Amino acid sequence: MTAQNSARGPRVVIVGAGFAGLAAARRAARGGARVTLVDRNTYITFQPLLYQVATAGLSPGDVSYPTRSFAAKYPTMRTRQAALSKVLPDERRVELDDGTGLEYDYLVLATGVTTNWLGVPGAERDALPIYSVGDAITLRKRLQRRLEDTAAGRRASTHVVVVGGGATGVEMAGTLAELRRRTIPLTHPEIGPGQTSVTLVERFDHVLSPYKPRLRAAAARALAKRGVRLRLGSTVAEVCPDAVVLGDGTRLPSDVTVWALGVAAPPEAADWGLPQGKGGRITVTEALNVERYPEIFVAGDLAGPPDPLPQLAQPAIQMGEHVGRQIVAATRGGPVRPFAYRDPGIMATVGRAEAVLQFPNGWTMHGLPAWLAWIVLHVAYLLGGRNRMSVLINFVWRYTGPRRTAASVIE
Ligand SMILES: Cc1cc2nc3c(=O)[nH]c(=O)nc-3n(C[C@H](O)[C@H](O)[C@H](O)COP(=O)(O)OP(=O)(O)OC[C@H]3O[C@@H](n4cnc5c(N)ncnc54)[C@H](O)[C@@H]3O)c2cc1C
Repeated sequence: MTAQNSARGPRVVIVGAGFAGLAAARRAARGGARVTLVDRNTYITFQPLLYQVATAGLSPGDVSYPTRSFAAKYPTMRTRQAALSKVLPDERRVELDDGTGLEYDYLVLATGVTTNWLGVPGAERDALPIYSVGDAITLRKRLQRRLEDTAAGRRASTHVVVVGGGATGVEMAGTLAELRRRTIPLTHPEIGPGQTSVTLVERFDHVLSPYKPRLRAAAARALAKRGVRLRLGSTVAEVCPDAVVLGDGTRLPSDVTVWALGVAAPPEAADWGLPQGKGGRITVTEALNVERYPEIFVAGDLAGPPDPLPQLAQPAIQMGEHVGRQIVAATRGGPVRPFAYRDPGIMATVGRAEAVLQFPNGWTMHGLPAWLAWIVLHVAYLLGGRNRMSVLINFVWRYTGPRRTAASVIE
């Protein structure tokens, strides 16, 4: 008899092995629950470093970790590779896309969100999102192919337009601009500076909206210093195969368009029969469970609590931990408590030696010290010692090694 079968704890099905699902699984398993962790992939993705994969600074394996290696640490945890197709709340059962089903005492939905094309014509067809390892690899291949074609004279240019001035857009644009200035002239000497460009389009008149004005300004200055063309206060009206058309009719030439904005609940969430709010998120109580089905909890980006939270790793981790704790408490006959978010601050990087950091008490920091703090935190939150070592070595190489090797990962 396996440890999971012989255990007496509640059956907890957790869908989604992201920040929220893993935190919930950890807490529930430590409390003796029999956890089944379901994810459509066999690996866990560290999204905050996907832009490094897309820009060939890291390999896909550096930002992924096998779900089974995670579960192996907990004797009462099992994993299942499948996508959720149906929730049957009255039967306390979920159906998976492999044709099987799982019964539960508690269900945790933590599938995260996905790209929202915002109804912009051509966006889904011609722009590339950056939400999964697959997206990052596709983007990297397209960039590399466009550069090769430009170097060989098969194309006239490799202009990149990044749509969205949030953290992901700023990180992408800053890194691409550094490659354009420092590496591409060495690795692709056939390409002239006029044949490449990096443009960032943002509908507000500033980048990094959640940050204080002085940090937004510092980030915008750092981007401009790297040669990023900023189109602030501009909306995208259409994406074409070779251009991005702005609301005022301006046509920005674009050989690679990166879609770094807009997230919404996955469309299939509409089939789960649960209440949905803004962006399709599942409406939950202050305790993060569904009012009509209190044994169903929702954590992370997919959750729509009464006080909306930023769609970031920290809220997802804390929600997951809270949900795991509530399940353990409820099993022991304790009350289910409301969730309270402890804000540790926010940070984003623009590129080499430049990041912005904002603490909840209003203190801010930018430049080299903020960048070093950004590196330490991102490495610390990765799963697996090997990944931490590998990312650290790759960062040292990318930022202090020979310029010609800054984009050194082979396709
Ligand atoms: C490119 C990028 C960069 C980011 N950078 C930062 C950053 O620097 N700092 C920060 O704090 N936050 C960052 N974020 C946001 C942060 O990654 C998310 O807020 C966080 O991952 C949300 O956690 P989650 O557990 O809700 O969902 P996710 O981490 O998205 O996990 C969801 C999991 O559910 C699985 N799944 C989805 N649908 C199904 C289904 N139907 N069936 C089974 N499994 C399913 C997915 O495979 C995935 O493993 C970034 C996000 C992106 C996309």
